[in-house]
Amino acid sequence: MQHIQISNAELREAVAAEAPGAFELLAALVARPSLRGSESAAQELMASTMLELGFDVERLAIPDSIGDDDLAGVPAYSYEGRFDVVGRMPHDGGRSLLLNGHIDAVPANEATWSSDPFVPVIRDGWLYGRGAGDMKGGFSMAVLALRALRRLGANAGQRNLSFLSVIEEEYTGNGTLAAVRAGVSADAVVLPEPTNLKILLGGVAITWVRIIIRFGGGHAESSDRIAAPAQVVSTLIGALEHLEEEYNKELKPPFDAIARPYNVNVGVIRLGEWPSSVAAVAELEIRVGHPDDVNDEQVRATVHAIVADALRDTDGPEFEVALHGFKAQAYHLVADHPLVHDVVRAHVDVHGEAPSSELLGSTTDARYYVNQLGVPALCFGPVVRNMHGSNESVELASIEAGALTLARFLLNYFNEGGS
Ligand SMILES: [Zn+2]
Repeated sequence: MQHIQISNAELREAVAAEAPGAFELLAALVARPSLRGSESAAQELMASTMLELGFDVERLAIPDSIGDDDLAGVPAYSYEGRFDVVGRMPHDGGRSLLLNGHIDAVPANEATWSSDPFVPVIRDGWLYGRGAGDMKGGFSMAVLALRALRRLGANAGQRNLSFLSVIEEEYTGNGTLAAVRAGVSADAVVLPEPTNLKILLGGVAITWVRIIIRFGGGHAESSDRIAAPAQVVSTLIGALEHLEEEYNKELKPPFDAIARPYNVNVGVIRLGEWPSSVAAVAELEIRVGHPDDVNDEQVRATVHAIVADALRDTDGPEFEVALHGFKAQAYHLVADHPLVHDVVRAHVDVHGEAPSSELLGSTTDARYYVNQLGVPALCFGPVVRNMHGSNESVELASIEAGALTLARFLLNYFNEGGS
């Protein structure tokens, strides 16, 4: 394989020249709300972007049977008409690399935003919008790196590169799992998730649980005599806090590096319709971060016992506790892995300092590569604020900085890995 020499000055100039176009792509992606079930418009934009970069592009259907896979999250929606996009450069047998990003963004409560979450706005060097940080800014960064390399005539160096844009990273991981099952992988994987230009090496086990309690309800004047759903919910929340305390006792490596790795988050509480009825149904959706020696079924059983206990003094309403969405295993790439060294070296080369690496009390799709395929995978991406919250934003300068690192990394990776 030809050895491509490009100086940092040339690389910096090419990234700067391509940056406006990459920011336009970011804005266009934010303007295509890719909430669960409506990812196609944004996916088509990724498909045309990959095509323009010289990738062979495939729209990869996700079979509804993916839900039967042991490693799948529990699907809440059909996958009909929804797809991953995979771009492939022709392979020459040298070592290969996969860029993996997720196009799906999380729901937004528009009332709590300063402006429409799906109308991208740039203020003081930050682009605001749902998904701007997590992780359309990462796509922008990866595309910027690739366009800068193309500008410098370094396309040929990327012949063993694939680029994957998946759905449902935020709900199940089934988009990446379907791609893995379809054979989309490589010798190493980089996910341009928003990591504040740090290297993210791992995440904890996550299980989503839905609790439904059918109280039956009644007139508000009887609330002193029949089961009081609000009190039960309050008791439940206390018990779930206690569960979180339990999970965070006696932390084991590697997650003892995080002050409090396991969070039990009550994300949804639905209770009643109006003030003058005792609520008929209580519904809670919780996201349980937990140690990896506890499996999803054990989490479900524990929550079931907690609910039964909270209902101890009532007349025993019907309830169910079910898994839905995430059933993610913990994962961890060792910090001295050659892939980590390669990204650190590229960052030092272009920025003069080493990025730190970290673990988080959340998860990413990197887990499938590390756990199931034994393929090294890490996340490295832009600087963001308020991911999953209101006024989510990404720092544009960090997209350029990250693209510079990624471009240098790709050059080294393919220069040094030729067959
Ligand atoms: Zn993400």
